[in-house]
Amino acid sequence: MRQSKLFTKTRKDAPADEVSRNAELLIRGGFIHKEMAGVYSYLPLGLRVLEKIGNIIREEMNKAGGQEVLLSSFHPKENWEKTGRWEAMTDLYKVSDSSGREVALGPTHEEIIVPILKNYISSHKDLPVAIYQIQNKFRMELRAKSGILRGREFMMKDMYSFHATEEDFEEFYNKMKDVYKTIFQRVGIGHLTYLTFASGGTFSKYSHEFQTITAMGEDTIYVDEEKGVAVNKEVLNSEVLKQLNLTKEKLAERKAIEVGNIFDLKTKYSKPFDLSFTDEKEQKHAILMGCYGIGLGRLMGTVVEVLSDDKGIIWPESIAPFQVHLLALGDDKEILGEAEKVYKSLLKAGVEVLFDDRAEVLAGEKFADADLLGIPFRVVVSARSMKESGVEIKKRTEEKGKVISLAELLKQIEP
Ligand code: ATP
Ligand code: MG
Repeated sequence: MRQSKLFTKTRKDAPADEVSRNAELLIRGGFIHKEMAGVYSYLPLGLRVLEKIGNIIREEMNKAGGQEVLLSSFHPKENWEKTGRWEAMTDLYKVSDSSGREVALGPTHEEIIVPILKNYISSHKDLPVAIYQIQNKFRMELRAKSGILRGREFMMKDMYSFHATEEDFEEFYNKMKDVYKTIFQRVGIGHLTYLTFASGGTFSKYSHEFQTITAMGEDTIYVDEEKGVAVNKEVLNSEVLKQLNLTKEKLAERKAIEVGNIFDLKTKYSKPFDLSFTDEKEQKHAILMGCYGIGLGRLMGTVVEVLSDDKGIIWPESIAPFQVHLLALGDDKEILGEAEKVYKSLLKAGVEVLFDDRAEVLAGEKFADADLLGIPFRVVVSARSMKESGVEIKKRTEEKGKVISLAELLKQIEP
């Protein structure tokens, strides 16, 4: 893509009311646009990142046997009354139309997926099944000061699994722990993300959160570096430590943000809707459920929080909007011609390139933009690089670049 055609521009300053680092950098880079507190639009660069994150998650969900759906955002009030959450869920958005009919804007989808399954599942032969979607959620968050880490409208991957037996549920639930680890690794924050024990609510002992260490985090967790696990402060007591075989002295207190969680729902949602199956002996049982969430925007914001420097964002290659930021320096015809040639060669090789072909912009500004946007490889065509018959390549994480030939460049940057 040519930067001269990109409708967004970088900005020197973020809105004055924006206090979070992630939103500040993402707004300045033109990745997102702030509509109001907790509500952001995704612009071309931001959408590319969000979609890459979504595709990594999708790949891993499909591998785990998940079937993708897209559930409605409008939810019938009756469904939420059935589970008691129409009243109990304080962050539920309730909207009414001109006839006075009330509906909820979906903050999570148990109340939709369970009644759907009732139409299709009735026997143990229909189980297990795992269903997921990547979709917008709505929640009346009280504190929405953390940029895209805590939206009032935000993109979530939510998966729901359905099982006949406790053993079958546990096997799937444990598998999801590994699937989640793989996802956070692929997105580039695996080294900072811990499987964290948290309180499981009324029905099960623990739920599991995936917490990424960052000063921006709203949670406090206690990390056992050696074992690679953590405990949420909310559940930390001597009994819990004993059960988990952890010792207080080995735990380090850290601020962290929850990027995902997995939950044993037991029959909490299948019972109210009478979602059940008959076993081999024609006996009826309530179906066991698990749910598994990841916030896509939260993940994106977390990457920005933990992988940026004072100049801007540093995207991991797996989710960067483009792999190469190609800069043509100066408006000399020969330089522009050479840069065009490099651009076309990279495109032909299947590399995703943002080409800064803006003629009127000075070198210093182009470099500053490249640092802010955080694309993994910066490739410069300038009078200097042409004198050495090559292009200058520099990783976003490196201080200095080096001049290499176009052939070498193509070899180094394989898609
Ligand atoms: P939190 O304690 O941070 O409010 P939660 O327990 O409400 O999270 P879930 O309802 O389990 O979260 O949602 C699953 C995932 O969705 C979370 O792990 C998080 O990654 C993401 N998420 C939750 N709320 C938000 C939000 N307001 N904005 C962005 N992402 C969110
Ligand atoms: Mg919440």
